[in-house]
Order: sequence, then C-alpha cells, then structure tokens
Amino acid sequence: MDIQQRRHDLETRRAELRERMERVASHTQHRSEPLSADFAEQAVELENQGVLIAIDGELNAELRSIDLAIRRIEAGDYEFCASCGEEIGEARLNALPSVTLCISCAERGERGTGG
Ligand SMILES: [Zn+2]
Repeated sequence: MDIQQRRHDLETRRAELRERMERVASHTQHRSEPLSADFAEQAVELENQGVLIAIDGELNAELRSIDLAIRRIEAGDYEFCASCGEEIGEARLNALPSVTLCISCAERGERGTGG
C-alpha cells in the first residue's frame, strides 16, 4: 500500500468535509431571523434545521475518524488493528480508509456494544 498516497486521499477528504460543514453551519446560523408567522412553515423550518443538525453530526463523526486515521498514519499504526495489533488488510483499508479495527475485532465489537 502507498501510505503517503492514502494520507493524501484522507487529507483531501478531510478538506471536503470541512467545507461541507462550513456550508451546513452557514445554513443553521440563519436562525437569527424570526420564525415564519405561519405555524406550518415554522414546522418545516424546524424540520430542516433538524436535518441539518443530523448532517452536521454525520460529517463530524466522519471527520473525527479521518483525523484519527491520519494520526495513525503519522504514528505508523495505520495498517494495524487498534485492538489486537494484527494487520487490518489492504482490501479492508481500501474499502474503509478510516477503519481502525481488523474484521474480526470489528465483528466482535459490533456484537458486544452495538457499535
Ligand atoms: Zn483486531
């Protein structure tokens, strides 16, 4: 695996996510405007707000996992499972570039804690 290329890909993805989060933030900050007088419109506005907050949460979670993957590359741990220390495997890392667990630890974790 070309680890520097992977790092570059992750950094590109991180920059994209940050840009999207800034766009979401600029939408959510529109709340300084008064809510529409019409109750139905208010409900729609609040619902959109909830969707944006959910998107923001997803972006945040992905950003955190990419940050962690980049730190693991810097530490030389990227290709190794954070739990058992075995190689994660190139195919799995290609499919899930910010994954930190090998397949067997991931399956054990999912069964145990639900995530
Ligand atoms: Zn493992």
